[in-house]
Amino acid sequence: MRFIDEYRDAGRARQCADAIVQRATRPWTIMEICGGQTHAIVKFGLDELLPASLTLVHGPGCPVCVTPLELIDKAIAIAQQPGVIFCSFGDMLRVPGSARDLLSAKAAGSDVRIVYSPLDAVALAQAHPERAVVFFAVGFETTAPANALAVHQARRLGLRNFSLLVSHVLVPPAMEALLGSPHNRVQGFLAAGHVCVVMGTREYEPIAARHRIPIVVTGFEPLDILQGIHRCVSLLEAGAVGVENHYARAVRPEGNPSAQALLREVFTVVDRKWRGIGVIPASGFALRGPYADFDAERRFGVAAHQVDESAECISGLVLQGRRTPHECPAFGTRCTPDHPLGATMVSSEGACAAYYRYRRGRPPGPGLRASNPASPSEPESPPAAAPPANPEPGQS
Ligand code: SF4
Repeated sequence: MRFIDEYRDAGRARQCADAIVQRATRPWTIMEICGGQTHAIVKFGLDELLPASLTLVHGPGCPVCVTPLELIDKAIAIAQQPGVIFCSFGDMLRVPGSARDLLSAKAAGSDVRIVYSPLDAVALAQAHPERAVVFFAVGFETTAPANALAVHQARRLGLRNFSLLVSHVLVPPAMEALLGSPHNRVQGFLAAGHVCVVMGTREYEPIAARHRIPIVVTGFEPLDILQGIHRCVSLLEAGAVGVENHYARAVRPEGNPSAQALLREVFTVVDRKWRGIGVIPASGFALRGPYADFDAERRFGVAAHQVDESAECISGLVLQGRRTPHECPAFGTRCTPDHPLGATMVSSEGACAAYYRYRRGRPPGPGLRASNPASPSEPESPPAAAPPANPEPGQS
C-alpha cells in the first residue's frame, strides 16, 4: 500500500539505523511525543536497532492516558443520569476512574455507546430528541477540529439535547512543562506529524529557540521515525537548534488554516489537569462563547468534582519520560490490560499497553538489543482483549 509499505521496508530501516549508529558519538535522550509513535517504536523494535548511547523516552501524547481521573468519574456520573446516551470512542470505556470505568457503568445499565465519529453522536441527538446525547471529546489538536465541527453542527441544527464533555489538551504547553521541569532529561523531540497537520510547525519554533533544542516533526511508520531520529541526532551532534519537518507529505508549516479557524470559533484555551502530571497552564480547550451552552459539565452539574490519583500507578512518570513501564512494580502483575490500574495500560496509544503487548516477559535494558532484534517487517502480534479502540491509530 502506498505511503505504508515503502515506509516499512526492513532493508532501508536497517540502513537508516546504521546511519544513526555512525552519527551518534555521545549519549543523547530524545522523546517521541505521540503514543502512536511509541507503539510503532516498541512494536517494530526500532529502539533495539539504535546505539546504546541513544535513549528514547516516551512522551505524554496519549490522549486517553492524560485524561484525568475526575473526568472519567464525571463521564460515569453523566452516563448514569436518566435519559442520557453517553457516546465515546472505545478506548475510553476501560479507563479506570476512582472507583469504576465506563464499561462497568454500561454493564450496570447506563446507555453508553461506542461511536466512530463525534458526528455519529450528533446524528443520535437528531434521531432521539427525547434523550440527552453527550459525546466524550478527548484528544489533542488532531481530534479537536472534528469535535468542534460536531458542536458547530449541533448548534446550526438547533439541537439542544447534544453536549460535549471536553477533555482536549495541547502539545506545546506540555513540551514547555517537560522542558521546564527540574527532572527533565529530554534533549530533542520527535513531534507528532498528525498534530502538525492541523496546527503547522511554527508554534514549535519559539520552544526550540527558548530551550535550545532540536524538534523534528515526523510520522508514524518505522522509516518516518528512524529518519526523524537520524535528523534529531544529527542536529544534536552539530549543536543546532530549531524545527525541521520530516513529514512533508502531510504537514505544511502553516498547518490547516480552516481547521484552526474552527478551533478558534468554538474553543478557548484554558488551564488543564493532565492525569499523573497535574495542571499545566494554558494546555487545553474549553467551549467558548455561544458554544459554552453545549458544555456537559455545566449542563449536568459535575464541574466541581475533584479526586486524588492512585498512589500505586506511576503512569505520570512514564508520561514524562522519567520511568519506563518495566520499572513499574505493578507492570504485568497487578496491572494488565484485563485489570488495568492506569490509563497507560488501557489505551491503544499507552506506553504500558505497548510494552505489555510486545515485550511482556522480556527483561528491560540492553539485553533486549542483542536478544531480540525485531525486524521492521515483523507481523503484528495478536491484540490483547479490549473493546474497539479509536478508529485511527495515533489519532491524538
Ligand atoms: S503498569 Fe499499570 S500501574 Fe504501572 S504505570 Fe503502567 S498503567 Fe500504571
